[in-house]
Amino acid sequence: MSVLPADLYTQVPVSEPRLPCLPGSLRSFPPQTLQLSDDVSRLVSPRSAGMLRSWFKAAFVLWLVPESLGPAARLYTEEDPLVILSSSSLTPTVTNSSSAWLLQFYSSWCGHCIQYSSTWKSLALDVKDWQQAIHLSVLDCAQEENLDACKDYGIKFYPTFKYFRAHSPPTDKGTTCRGGDRTVQFMRQLMVDILQNHTQMDRPDHCPALEPVSSVELLPVLGQRSDHYTAIVVEEPESYVGREVILDLLQFSGVEVKRALSSDRPLLDALKVTAFPSVYLLHPNGTHANLHVEKRLRFFFSSLLRTLPGVQRRPKSDSSSSSVGQKVALPHGQSSEPWRNFDRSKVYTADLESALHYLLRVELAAHTSLEGDELKVFKDLVTVVTKLYPGGGSVAKLMETLSDWLLSLPLQRIPYQAVLDLVDNKMRISGVFLGAEVRWVGCQGSRAGLRGYPCSLWTLFHVLTVQHDAMPTALDNTGLEGEAAPVLQVMRRYIRTFFGCEECGRHFEQAAAASMDRVQNREQQILWLWNQHNMVNNRLTGSLSDDPLFPKAPWPSPSLCASCHEEENGVHVWNQNRILSFLRHHYGASNLSPHYSLTPPQLPAPHPNPNPGPVQTSKPQAEKQGGAGGGGERREQVKVAEELPGPQLRHQAHRGEQKGEVPGHRGEGGAGGGVWILGLGFNSVDMSLCVVLYVCSCLFLMLLFFFFKVRSKRWKLRHSRLYV
Ligand SMILES: Cc1cc2nc3c(=O)[nH]c(=O)nc-3n(C[C@H](O)[C@H](O)[C@H](O)COP(=O)(O)OP(=O)(O)OC[C@H]3O[C@@H](n4cnc5c(N)ncnc54)[C@H](O)[C@@H]3O)c2cc1C
Repeated sequence: MSVLPADLYTQVPVSEPRLPCLPGSLRSFPPQTLQLSDDVSRLVSPRSAGMLRSWFKAAFVLWLVPESLGPAARLYTEEDPLVILSSSSLTPTVTNSSSAWLLQFYSSWCGHCIQYSSTWKSLALDVKDWQQAIHLSVLDCAQEENLDACKDYGIKFYPTFKYFRAHSPPTDKGTTCRGGDRTVQFMRQLMVDILQNHTQMDRPDHCPALEPVSSVELLPVLGQRSDHYTAIVVEEPESYVGREVILDLLQFSGVEVKRALSSDRPLLDALKVTAFPSVYLLHPNGTHANLHVEKRLRFFFSSLLRTLPGVQRRPKSDSSSSSVGQKVALPHGQSSEPWRNFDRSKVYTADLESALHYLLRVELAAHTSLEGDELKVFKDLVTVVTKLYPGGGSVAKLMETLSDWLLSLPLQRIPYQAVLDLVDNKMRISGVFLGAEVRWVGCQGSRAGLRGYPCSLWTLFHVLTVQHDAMPTALDNTGLEGEAAPVLQVMRRYIRTFFGCEECGRHFEQAAAASMDRVQNREQQILWLWNQHNMVNNRLTGSLSDDPLFPKAPWPSPSLCASCHEEENGVHVWNQNRILSFLRHHYGASNLSPHYSLTPPQLPAPHPNPNPGPVQTSKPQAEKQGGAGGGGERREQVKVAEELPGPQLRHQAHRGEQKGEVPGHRGEGGAGGGVWILGLGFNSVDMSLCVVLYVCSCLFLMLLFFFFKVRSKRWKLRHSRLYV
């Protein structure tokens, strides 16, 4: 499973002795693993040999990482969850800051720094939620404009690690951290030590107390009501888990985490805690009990506490990453929708159908016609969905009809309206139907504008990758069978060409360009998408598009799949075999729930409507909560254009108005009556017209026949007289 290029929790193992941070002293950590040949070693002094070794190593790594060359060479980008400092920003940032800072001075030409960057990035990701207490940052001394700062701060070797306490004065040049094993775990614990090194007076503004609390303080609050949860992590004195969980929950409201020690006998007796570390939970209503976790690991404790009812991530004050989320073309107006209870361990066909409805009737509507590459991308998407959409049914039939129609058309350019007519089943083909409304279930947001379409699009593609794995020959003879990862490639092209959120498309394209080509088989295809999805959401945690009711977090959570999570050297890691099995089950056809799905309505024969008007994404008047299949749910009220969600819909609605469409006919399955001839669909009106035309033509031909018959008789008579 080496396909995952930058696994979220990758760790570079470095084994060096642990050393403390010392003010003023500087030391580097060059790895001594590259061996020079004996001939070279004999010719040069040991010191020069060391330098040569470093240079060879740097050159080798630079050769391996071509994108690290030149001015664009950047080991860290804005995408990484750390702060990139420069000469001009360094002092103002770390001086009198409300948080502490751990800063790596590196050089982008230094081979070891290049190698170490993956560990530093993993660390940044691991402690992303600690930022209010301590920031992780980097400064590139290889950049000319940063030379002054590196000189000023006395940097002679790379990398050099310095920390700055919160509220430090401008004269503070930082405290250098010497050597040590620089694994993620070591550095993370170092950050905890740095925070604990503060006094009560200069502690970072948002850093809670990390010192253990005694039974004298804790026992009196047992049984008391409160407006929040209190989690007590009981652990061995040398354990860091409690402090790490406190910091992991720093950005969450509704829960307070405290740490107590296993040496506190009265507390252990009162709480009846026997295993360490354990979390004892005091509920707001005054009840209290041990928190059950599958594994006694930091990740499990933090994940469970974050998902307690009422516990929410505090919104970020800056909207840097959130703005992107807001640009996603989200359907609004679902706020007044009734809440649909759902099971997080299921996938809902209503979400898949809503994704297809939104994609075909809204997103695609921005394109008045499809031609060239756009048409090819659309055709491929329809092919993939047709072949892999699970469960059959009216939606699968619609996609099949659409696919057959697209493939049989010899046209280079197709007006979007023609696609829409087919999606709306204007020909009234029996059993073909796609509900003309969004009905989010697993993708419903706590308020309008959150989740919805992007959530359902992810879901759809996860389902398609898993279906492709279950039906390896499904794409044979489609022209896509030659691609190693056809579902991913089609998704990539769709996102690039049609996805309404341009910025999201750009990010996805970058990720795809970096690693999608390495996907070699169907299993890797499933895992690549899972990993990519986690990377996107990891970037978006705490952004404005993060629904407080469904906070973005590494997925699947321990409650969905405990065996997917493990810990290696104190760092959380995924068990990818377990992940694969879990994804196969979760997105497999057998885990699809038809609950809330729109079913094709049984309609009477069509009748002309005296008040033609637009019908678009409408909302159900009333919805049965909990009724399986949604069989009793019928077409809802027609919405006027002004009420429709979003400009695209409104635009479409007006278009429908101009055309005088008949409300109630859009998307109806009906009892049949349509006919396919040469890839073109004819409805009953078309057929009646054909019959009328046919009868008229026959009458006309008969008239012509009699006319010429009479004339020829006269002609013969005239000629026969002459002859006589
Ligand atoms: C291709 C693509 C790129 C995007 N890029 C951006 C972007 O750059 N910036 C931006 O702001 N928004 C982006 N978005 C939107 C963003 O990823 C979310 O979809 C959106 O914010 C809604 O989030 P959500 O909480 O509903 O969960 P989503 O992330 O949409 O997840 C939907 C469901 O999938 C399941 N799930 C979660 N994680 C995984 C996983 N790793 N593997 C499998 N299943 C999972 C869960 O059941 C979850 O409820 C993108 C969306 C797509 C489809």
